[in-house]
Amino acid sequence: MSASSGTLYIVSAPSGAGKTSLVKALIDSMPQVRVSVSHTTRAMRPGEVDGVNYHFVERERFLGMLEQDEFLEHAEVFGNLYGTSQRWVEHTLAEGFDLILEIDWQGAQQVRRLMPDARSIFILPPTQQALRQRLTNRGQDSDEVIERRMREAVSEMSHYVEYDYLVINDDFAHALDDLKAVFRANQLRQQRQQQRHLALLDALLG
Ligand code: 5GP
Repeated sequence: MSASSGTLYIVSAPSGAGKTSLVKALIDSMPQVRVSVSHTTRAMRPGEVDGVNYHFVERERFLGMLEQDEFLEHAEVFGNLYGTSQRWVEHTLAEGFDLILEIDWQGAQQVRRLMPDARSIFILPPTQQALRQRLTNRGQDSDEVIERRMREAVSEMSHYVEYDYLVINDDFAHALDDLKAVFRANQLRQQRQQQRHLALLDALLG
């Protein structure tokens, strides 16, 4: 990959921690940051758009893509398959954009192995109670379903130690600021600034 290529970010969170809203607000305010659209075999939820939230595909097509080595990473989450297109990731980074992968801890482990320069961020809810509240507010689900979601959330959160950064989503604006700070600091790294300001550096040292 060229020296001017973007940085790959992994963002994980238990469902109900507000990850998708935070990432959306982040990319709306940082034009140089993109988010990857995964392929999934799960059914579309109301309000979701094919090609925007996910590329929704049949299991057979997903398995075909897997066989063709089209995924940078993939995982089965709650009985559905999810995967990130390798070609799209390479293309977006080569264009100089920073790229976010919203993936689970299993995918994160695969990406870290393949791309050790990737930065990873874990988003946590402020309390278990707040998480339960957010999982309950989603619909008219039974107690049993909510308890299962809570167990899955705790299991996802147990992987927080594998991540470079932790963002606590207590206050949305504050969490967004924290998230932006991670991206901003990385954009100011010497090598990237050198690429961006070659003419200035030449003039200053000339
Ligand atoms: P949901 O179906 O609720 O959108 O996502 C369920 C879980 O799958 C979330 O933890 C989400 O981060 C994860 N996920 C979404 N896309 C991918 C992907 O491409 N790869 C992996 N490994 N996980 C994904």
